[in-house]
Amino acid sequence: MQNTLTNYSDFYRQSVEQPDAFWAEQAQLIDWHQPFSRVCNDDNPPFVRWFEGGKTNLCHNAVDRHLAARAEQAALICVSSETGQEKIYSFKALHQEVQRMAASLQALGVQQGDRVLIYMPMMAEAAFAMLACARLGAIHCVVFGGFASGSLASRIEDATPKVIVSADGGSRGGKALAYKPLLDEAIRLSSHKPQALLLADRGLAPMALVAGRDHLWSDLREQHLDAQVACAWLDAAAVSYTIYTSGTTGKPKGVQRDTGGYAVALAASLKHIFDGRAGETFFSTSDIGWVVGHSYIVYGPLIAGMSSIMYEGLPTQGMDGKPNGGIWWQLVEKYRVTVMFSAPTAVRVLKKQDPALLTKYDLSSLRALFLAGEPLDEPTARWISEGLKVPIIDNYWQTESGWPILTIANGVEKKPSKFGSPGVPMYGYKVKLMHETSGEELTQPGEKGVLVIESPTPPGFMQTVWQDDARFINTYWKSIAGKTVYNTFDWGIRDADGYYFILGRTDDVINVAGHRLGTREIEESISGHAQVAEVAVVGVADALKGQVAMAFVVLKDASLMADEAASLKLEGEIMKRVDGDLGALARPARVRFVSALPKTRSGKLLRRAIQAVCEDRDTGDLTSMEDPAVLQQIRERM
Ligand code: AMP
Repeated sequence: MQNTLTNYSDFYRQSVEQPDAFWAEQAQLIDWHQPFSRVCNDDNPPFVRWFEGGKTNLCHNAVDRHLAARAEQAALICVSSETGQEKIYSFKALHQEVQRMAASLQALGVQQGDRVLIYMPMMAEAAFAMLACARLGAIHCVVFGGFASGSLASRIEDATPKVIVSADGGSRGGKALAYKPLLDEAIRLSSHKPQALLLADRGLAPMALVAGRDHLWSDLREQHLDAQVACAWLDAAAVSYTIYTSGTTGKPKGVQRDTGGYAVALAASLKHIFDGRAGETFFSTSDIGWVVGHSYIVYGPLIAGMSSIMYEGLPTQGMDGKPNGGIWWQLVEKYRVTVMFSAPTAVRVLKKQDPALLTKYDLSSLRALFLAGEPLDEPTARWISEGLKVPIIDNYWQTESGWPILTIANGVEKKPSKFGSPGVPMYGYKVKLMHETSGEELTQPGEKGVLVIESPTPPGFMQTVWQDDARFINTYWKSIAGKTVYNTFDWGIRDADGYYFILGRTDDVINVAGHRLGTREIEESISGHAQVAEVAVVGVADALKGQVAMAFVVLKDASLMADEAASLKLEGEIMKRVDGDLGALARPARVRFVSALPKTRSGKLLRRAIQAVCEDRDTGDLTSMEDPAVLQQIRERM
């Protein structure tokens, strides 16, 4: 069927006009223990069940099924410029390690359906733990290692994990970061307490163990060296994992994903979008704490039989710990990487390095570089495109979707990219632009609207919000007047050729260096400071990181504002507070003290007006604003 199609328009049309036939064929890309009886059950929209009746396992598809043909081939290539270590696990070795991890988790009481929270740096054991959960049918919940106790505690509370897998620490720029004290504090803050902790000790940071609760991976691994743990055959709809993401409220949402649909979606995306082939090497520079890490460091490349590079460290640091802006290109050369995936911020960092580094290494294996997570600006795209001389493919998606929504399906038809556009809707996605308030569909080129997706969403897309179907429906599916469509909360326009352009978020989510943060979460952390009466956090354009957070604070004691030393001290305290609650990632670039915040007459905070002032843009219509003079003070304090 579509294998004979080389025209993406036909391919796309078939995916939305004959979805059952289309996805039944894609489903052949993975192994099924029991075939499915129904391709798509959307009897109860917006909930969708893909491949009903089918039984499969993500770990089987990522590891076991490759043993026959590629047991000795590298599966995971773990490179750390932080520790100077480089270790390769073949599919055979990975199979063994995953079984040791699965047996260790079982020994700690983990059973099918239990949650296992993984709070780890970019080390091989993090991937072992994810795959071991998939093997057992336990639900993993990976929390980005850069998050601090407060963020971690709210996720422990929501996911209620039986076991937490972690490590003594990570490292950044050669500086060790202790994880265990943050984890202990998070457990103290959470009303849910895990039964056990499984800890990898890298010798990076001291780690105090709680007797009876904390177990060392080295000990359990030793006890299960010859473990053989079979894959649990799971319903296609069985939950594989949850991953938390920020929204408008202070409470992160647990994005929940299935098993069968996700496996098919990833296998299909490796083939049709990334054009990655078994035996080749995929290099994604992301982190397992983000959705890209789930889909395109661990599951996707392995399902496709590719070797996957897992890199710990900065893009500008060599294996000897010394500055080296060519480390990624060195890895491309060494491992003959064919497909690379990174983020615009990383490229902007590399842009400051010696351009000769782009020609120093043999990059002839590389077929394309995919960039995602934030808008790709034209100068960055041009710079890297001219330097690498391979297609630079922007791709737009979200934690919720699990795989690209808009891009170029390079494996189907190598359509040209357009600077500034991530591309066209991917197969299976019925993307539309709608008027934010009237819900009217916008069909004319150049019209700006909210980017929405019609039901049924394709395989791999989030099933619901963990333990909160009402939130899933109300947040995502009921926010456009009179329409039941999935709201991406992004503005977009489409040109006459059908290419989309993303114009930023419609909500208060900000994007710092490709990391999605909710301004509400940062505001809640700052509000916890005893001196803070009111606070507004906005995202402000930044040349390197895309956006940075700026906080405007009204103090309880207004007289402190005039006291420079007191203001400086308070600024430091507030930043430290955010570091401790959420992690350095969320720390505002600046904290400014003001006597009032701009609000509407009904008391709604006008974050957009603050943002416009910070970016020196027109503030638009301010007739609803209570006191326009307040903005003047913000302007002066910038
Ligand atoms: P996350 O869920 O953390 O992956 O963040 C998803 C959000 O990042 C999207 O809703 C967009 O606002 C933004 N985003 C992701 N990829 C792109 C892209 N290629 N171009 C523009 N914005 C993007």
